[in-house]
Amino acid sequence: MSKSIIRVEALHKSYVNGKNSLHVLKGLTMNIQEGEMVSIMGSSGSGKSTLLNVLGILDNYDAGSYHLDGIPITRMNETKAARYRNQYIGFVFQSFNLISFKNAVENVALPLYYQGVSRKKRNDLALEYLGRMGLREWAHHLPSELSGGQKQRLAIARALISKPKMILADEPTGALDSQTSREVMELLKEVNQTGIAMVIVTHENEIAAQTRRIIRLRDGIIESDEVNADFQTLPNT
Ligand code: ADP
Ligand code: MG
Repeated sequence: MSKSIIRVEALHKSYVNGKNSLHVLKGLTMNIQEGEMVSIMGSSGSGKSTLLNVLGILDNYDAGSYHLDGIPITRMNETKAARYRNQYIGFVFQSFNLISFKNAVENVALPLYYQGVSRKKRNDLALEYLGRMGLREWAHHLPSELSGGQKQRLAIARALISKPKMILADEPTGALDSQTSREVMELLKEVNQTGIAMVIVTHENEIAAQTRRIIRLRDGIIESDEVNADFQTLPNT
């Protein structure tokens, strides 16, 4: 029996600005199982990032429910939200969100710093994850010295270091050329094959085509939620 890592029911969210209110998520219901690889597609403005922010406990919702690994996620203080994020979720963003004045190993080690892990231990682990992403020789370089693909691999290493159950990726290839995008997608697939659920927001068909399941958003509702017929699993290595 597989278990839901994400269970969302009748989820609503509006942005309120003074007298104006914009209803963005209009009753979404979906389940994502542990270890699944899913893309969330939709045109610009359809609410993809809003949904991902709610799933990542970076923002609140107004109505409905969200369970993360069976835990009800309701309005909670930032300390508690941060604890759940640390325990369950790795984030990957289009713009990498690296700290420009910290080198690669420090960027990767940062989540462990917040968990109170000793410097020696977090640096050793960060080097191990950098190695897995093929960035060992870049450990002491600043993000500005890395290519776009290397920056995203660095961000993936940072997302993995706290051993999350799921990665939430918002347009992870949005700032990359097509060859580099393919490499980053291969890496995300490999990560998924280690049992970590992967939720990838994208507006690109070529990216969604590489996930096993595609959820399409349109005007704040789920237009379709289908197993991708073209999906091919990686050969076992
Ligand atoms: P997508 O990621 O699919 O492009 P978003 O979730 O970013 O869409 O945005 C959905 C809608 O909500 C858009 O109309 C956007 O302008 C609006 N929006 C997003 N964030 C905010 C915010 N913080 N305040 C007000 N409106 C917002
Ligand atoms: Mg977006």
